[in-house]
Amino acid sequence: MRTERLVLSFSPESIRKPVTYLLVSNYKLRLNILRAKVKPGEEGRLLLEISGDEERIREGLDYLASMGVRMEPVERFFTVNHARCVGTKECFKVCPTNAIILEPSPDKKVDILPEECILCEKCVDVCPQQVFNFSF
Ligand code: SF4
Repeated sequence: MRTERLVLSFSPESIRKPVTYLLVSNYKLRLNILRAKVKPGEEGRLLLEISGDEERIREGLDYLASMGVRMEPVERFFTVNHARCVGTKECFKVCPTNAIILEPSPDKKVDILPEECILCEKCVDVCPQQVFNFSF
């Protein structure tokens, strides 16, 4: 059993295709939608956790690619400006997944674990220093 967390981007034309249903029914994959953005006429995005047999995941991802779905890792959608961090730790209080860590460096700046982040952007709202930037 393997788990992948990816951001899927759909063109406005492909947004109505039942791709997530087909991943479940044809490839027997378990899907967990962690975040979604769908607006008429715009590119749609899904943050998806995909679990299943290694071979099935590969086949499922090949199927998505054949449907024109772009797949990118979570870390592609955020940046952390370490130089701006002054250590208020307000972000720790609001992060629902404990995705924010302190770097093991002497200056203890914050960082984000991409395998835990659900791109909710709550840390952006509370950071007075604009340390985090998201582009989901
Ligand atoms: S966006 Fe920020 S608050 Fe939300 S899960 Fe990621 S690190 Fe935590």
